[in-house]
Formats: sequence, structure tokens, C-alpha cells
Amino acid sequence: MSGGGSSVDQGRPQRIVLASANPAKATELAEILVDVGLGAELVPRPGVDEVPEVVEDAPDFVGNARLKAYALRDATGEWALADDSGLEVDALDGAPGVISARYAGEPGDDAANVALLLERLEAAGAESPSQRRARFRCVIVLAGPAGEELIAEGVVEGRIIDRPTGDGGFGYDPVFVPNEGDGRTFAQMSAGEKHAVSHRGRALRALAARLT
Ligand code: IMP
Repeated sequence: MSGGGSSVDQGRPQRIVLASANPAKATELAEILVDVGLGAELVPRPGVDEVPEVVEDAPDFVGNARLKAYALRDATGEWALADDSGLEVDALDGAPGVISARYAGEPGDDAANVALLLERLEAAGAESPSQRRARFRCVIVLAGPAGEELIAEGVVEGRIIDRPTGDGGFGYDPVFVPNEGDGRTFAQMSAGEKHAVSHRGRALRALAARLT
């Protein structure tokens, strides 16, 4: 995906506020950004008492990432980076998609989301690996104080296995096996192994390549 926005100034940000209220995702974003050597100081998101959590009601990943990045940029006057991401399962017509975090309802619960996903796949009769094809998608928006906007996207293809395996990661990691691997789920991989192929790793490396 190429960058959008009214004025795109590619001057490198010195400080970037990470606009994620999800601690597991914020940790991954920070780890990958350090790895890609962006050179900017990473600032954690202010608490929700200072900047309320953003209602993610856009119909797509880029819309929700924009809502989060703009809200934090406007509240802080600094560059803000937001990711919106989710799982798309072919046998479920792309669900859970943008509602991945709250598939089984509010408040979001990883175990309940995974249980519902497995139940829906079983109900759909999706048993073979090819019937359980899925991908994680991540869209990153970096918004600057003068109206700059950079957008990057990353995708990792894989499949959903039939029971949770592994203790690492978060969200749907225990049931997602990437195609570019040795059959382990994301939850069985080290952080470095996951970042090397993950949707978030790919999106952030694409973004960094355009900034440097
Ligand atoms: P967001 O905070 O609205 O972008 O929600 C993202 C949701 O998608 C998470 O809560 C997870 O359920 C799912 N998700 C996104 N990225 C990953 C990942 O790397 N591993 C597992 N689940 C993910």
C-alpha cells in the first residue's frame, strides 16, 4: 500500500508516540521499531485518563489506524504511530477481520475469541488445512504534527489449527501457523521468529524503508 494523506512530508520524526492501548501489541511495535533502527525516541501512549481510548468504528483497518494515530497526534502535538490489525479467515468470508479484538464480544477476551473462531470453523465444516486458510493483516499509520501521513501494510499467510498450542504471543497466536515456518504456531515461536515473518514486522519494515 502506498502513502496517502493531504501533505506527505518525509522528514524523519525524532520522537514517536505509540498509539496502542493494547500492551502486547505496543510491546511488539516497540521491539520491531528498535530492530529496524528507526532512530526515533519511542514514547508510550498517555494513559486513558489523559487521552480516552479511541472508538474503533471505521469499516476497515486503515480507517481505524487513522482514528488512533490522529487522536494521539492531536492530543500530544507529536508524531503518532498506530497499527490496526486482525485475522481474516477464508472459510468465514474474512471474519473476524476488523472486529478481531472483540469477536466474542466486549470486553475483548483472547481465549473467548479463539474458542468462538474454532467453533465457527467447525460449524462451517472447514477441516482440511486448505479449508482453514487465513492471514493476519496489519495497517500502520504514522501521522505527523504538520499533517504528514505515511501508511504501510503487512500480511502473513497461514492456517488455523484445531486446538490452541503454545504459550507465547497474544490474541489468535496459539491457533495460527504461518506458511513460512516449520509447522509451529506463532505462540510457539520466539518474539524474533514471529517478527521476521509477521504482518506487523512486515508493515513496520516497509514503513521504515520509506522513512530512511
Ligand atoms: P486492534 O487493537 O483493533 O488492532 O485489534 C487487533 C486484534 O487482532 C487483536 O486483539 C488480536 O485479536 C488480533 N491480532 C492482531 N495481531 C495479532 C497477532 O500478531 N497475533 C494474534 N492476534 C493478533
